[in-house]
Amino acid sequence: MAREAREGESRVAMVPELVGKLTALGYEVAVEPDAGRHALITDEDYADAGAVIDAAALDGADVVVSVQPLGTDRIRLLRSGAATVSFLPTGQEPEVVAALRDAGVTSFAMELVPRISRAQSMDALSSQALVSGYRCAIVAAGMLRRFFPLNMTAAGTVPPAEVVVLGAGVAGLQAIATAKRLGAVVKAYDVRAAAAEEIRSMGAHAIDLELDTLEGAGGYAREMTEERAALQMERLTPYVAAADALITTAAVPGRKAPVLVTRAMVEQMRPGSVVVDLAAESGGNVEGAEPGEVVRIGNAQVWGGRNVPSQMPGPASKLYAQNIVNIVTLMTASTDDGGAFAPDFDDEIVAGSCVTHAGEIRHEPTRQAMEGAH
Ligand code: NAD
Repeated sequence: MAREAREGESRVAMVPELVGKLTALGYEVAVEPDAGRHALITDEDYADAGAVIDAAALDGADVVVSVQPLGTDRIRLLRSGAATVSFLPTGQEPEVVAALRDAGVTSFAMELVPRISRAQSMDALSSQALVSGYRCAIVAAGMLRRFFPLNMTAAGTVPPAEVVVLGAGVAGLQAIATAKRLGAVVKAYDVRAAAAEEIRSMGAHAIDLELDTLEGAGGYAREMTEERAALQMERLTPYVAAADALITTAAVPGRKAPVLVTRAMVEQMRPGSVVVDLAAESGGNVEGAEPGEVVRIGNAQVWGGRNVPSQMPGPASKLYAQNIVNIVTLMTASTDDGGAFAPDFDDEIVAGSCVTHAGEIRHEPTRQAMEGAH
């Protein structure tokens, strides 16, 4: 397992509790020194679990697991035929994909694992979105200088905070659940047809804007037309203006995050209001939000998310490591002397998540974007 080299990345791809699962499959597990430091895991914890602490862990490794993709300098040091399993945003990082291809490395991208039921236990987008959604609600509660719950006391009644959540996918639903548990009155909106029922099942109010729903492939949202986007903004404005806290989590796969809330809409919020934009890093749902910063717009403090799962590195790493163990298990064939990493490219999950193999880019959209049509 690699030590994460990117600034701000506190997670790790393997946790001591799960090292035994890999050794049981027949692997020797080598961990780079200090790899777990930011997730509060010591080298001794890994060693006690049966891993070897080795500064040269990547040299000659069959499989390298990490959260972020390895840097191009480290990829060039891998042996040809080695495999990497990590997040790998192919659209944003073509130079990493090219290095993997040219080094003859077989690479798998966790964000490309198909969202079919057999792959649920390997779905790192979902496991990390769960962490982000929770964290968003906690950040909003922490920034808001008032109670989330209703308080009825001898000294009088304090009304509950009103929280509006836009986007009710995995992260949004977790934000709703968390804000509800803290006692806020929660209203939420999502463009997908199934979302209203899911919002209600969390005990929140599903906002009905009387607009068409936008269902795309694989249960995802589709992009809005400009006209629909304008109408959605207009109809959302009174909900945003009335919110004490606004949490936005909307995304459309493979696209920039849709702008759902303009600066003018935020300016209508009351003094002391807070806005938490989980999508700030991918373009932002809220106009003016900055990833990793709190900016002031009108009366509101606007918090922009930046690598939000990394802000809770312990649980985020544990969930991610379980996803990694499950996908590595799928790609391990049992042999006479234990197990061997032998991905079966006829398997939908293996084929779907593979980016490079044997000197070629296997993920067709990435190949076309980088090499053009054949
Ligand atoms: P996501 O991160 O791509 O998007 C987050 C949410 O934003 C989605 O619910 C989307 O509908 C919403 N959104 C997009 N544009 C919007 C707009 N203009 N206004 C309001 N909301 C907007 O999505 P996700 O959380 O990864 O998952 C989306 C769906 O996929 C959910 O239904 C989820 O349950 C499903 N899912 C299925 C599996 C599986 O079957 N294995 C796994 C995970 C998620």
